[in-house]
Amino acid sequence: MKKVSAADLAINGGSPLFDSILSTSNLVLPSQEIFFERLQNSISSSGLTSNGPCVEEFEALIAQRYGVKHCIATCNGLWALAVCIRCIRLEGKSEIVMPSLTYRRMADIAAWVSMTPHFCDVEMTTRGVSAAKIEPCLNENTGLILAAHPIVDLCDIDSIVGLARERNIPLLFDSVEAAYATHGGKMIGGFGEAECFSMHASKFLNGFEAGYITTNSDSLAHDLRVMIDQEVPRESESSAFGINGRLCEAHAALAIASIYDLEDQIERNRGRYFAYKNLLSGIKGLRLVKYDEQQVRTFKNILVELTEDWSLDRAQTIELLHAENLLVRPYYSPPLHKKEYSFDVKTNIQSNTEFLGDRYLLLPCGDFVSESDVAEICELLNFISNTRDLIGAEL
Ligand SMILES: *Cc1c(COP(=O)(O)O)cnc(C)c1O
Repeated sequence: MKKVSAADLAINGGSPLFDSILSTSNLVLPSQEIFFERLQNSISSSGLTSNGPCVEEFEALIAQRYGVKHCIATCNGLWALAVCIRCIRLEGKSEIVMPSLTYRRMADIAAWVSMTPHFCDVEMTTRGVSAAKIEPCLNENTGLILAAHPIVDLCDIDSIVGLARERNIPLLFDSVEAAYATHGGKMIGGFGEAECFSMHASKFLNGFEAGYITTNSDSLAHDLRVMIDQEVPRESESSAFGINGRLCEAHAALAIASIYDLEDQIERNRGRYFAYKNLLSGIKGLRLVKYDEQQVRTFKNILVELTEDWSLDRAQTIELLHAENLLVRPYYSPPLHKKEYSFDVKTNIQSNTEFLGDRYLLLPCGDFVSESDVAEICELLNFISNTRDLIGAEL
């Protein structure tokens, strides 16, 4: 890192710290050998349509790893969520309770299934939902609880499962960011009626564009396969409501290769995470959000809180880092209750979401970021932290 004064910052006309962009996308490229071998096999078998050998192998591998009865592969994470909601919601009820601080299209998904999102607050400690935050949103119209795990660690699974049981409301987990995590030593995937995952290239497992659903319910698995057109419906179901939500063989082939790389990926992520953890600990104004190291974690996302000692606001920080070719991202911004919609939404937010909404930043991660890149990034952050008045003046 060659910056000695604020004038050296790219935002002030200096040259960027990195020649090419470092992003917060995971972009893991698993073994091409496994990918092409599986694809070749699929092409030479007659499995070119739905449910070919790759999709079948992928589903079996995931079900086994998560310890669930069923995995249903889907075209992406969004439609995995949409079809789950259609299959498990209470008939005739209109509202879905979901956090505001989550994936940017979560409210849109509710609209796609003709339901109203009801935004709830999150806990300060987990940045995720809990029974205490969901309960104020429950009413006679509630048809589903959609508990989305936060970007680091998990939401309060136990209290939410308890509440859903007590009130007899179906529970769906968005577990995209919690892929391959354990809760109390038990792999996620089987909490609630179903759990949904994405395998977009930016997520933990790369399937180009893909998703999957895990469940322990035989009848739900059947309904889901019929709805996404993966399984031929029985006579009585031939007019069932549905979409084409299948996963194609080529994407499943890459997903299989990603599964075989999974343990190695976790090791690589762990290396980056601990490099960040060491180097960020000395920087005033930044606090790394730590993983629960007693549980299985993928260490994929690097999330930092800008504390009161960090003198730039988040927007300035992002602008400054983008100029250095560090494509940092704000954490779930704006929160969903702050967006404009062409459909009805309901909001029951106390102050936590507002407070948390503009304090967090995702730092570059994934296989295109080396541990020496991490060292450079942290040196820059340290420089910013120590030279803050100069930077403030320049801006
Ligand atoms: C990416 C993401 C989704 C959607 O997955 P796609 O495969 O991109 O459709 C849903 N929920 C969360 C939390 C996500 O991060």
